[in-house]
Amino acid sequence: MKSGKAASREYRGDLSIAGMQRLAESLADTDVPDLQVRLQIGRDAGGVKCLEGEVQGVLHLICQRCLGRVEFPVLRTFRLALVHSEAEADRLAGGYEPLLLEDERVVVREVIEDELLLALPDFPHHSEADVCTLPEYRDDQETTVVDEKPNPFAALAGLKRN
Ligand SMILES: [Zn+2]
Repeated sequence: MKSGKAASREYRGDLSIAGMQRLAESLADTDVPDLQVRLQIGRDAGGVKCLEGEVQGVLHLICQRCLGRVEFPVLRTFRLALVHSEAEADRLAGGYEPLLLEDERVVVREVIEDELLLALPDFPHHSEADVCTLPEYRDDQETTVVDEKPNPFAALAGLKRN
């Protein structure tokens, strides 16, 4: 990630997810191209420093049905206000999420990792168009369900006979 002076307040760059430990726990692997990140630093009407941006890329999640790999295109936009206390966070104008800073440093990598974690689905799975990597398992399930049901026509045939 490039850092710059106030002359240019917008930054664009590529960011690798390598080393994002918390994110990695939710991923099938980290073998993806670098994320594209855009950041803009400014101040809101009240003079609070703001960080707006967007992160775009593809993550490899784990399908919760078949445990296979799912490609998850991610596009997350965010508007953060850099605050130093809960009281300052309470005074924020609408539209900004407070980002509580412990010192003046903003670790862009951590901000992006947090945003990606928020963008992850609760239950990642292959979409209808995709095929889970264990289709036999699903077929077995369906067959079992069908076999457990008594055949209503068999019962009907028995009644007729009496
Ligand atoms: Zn699947």
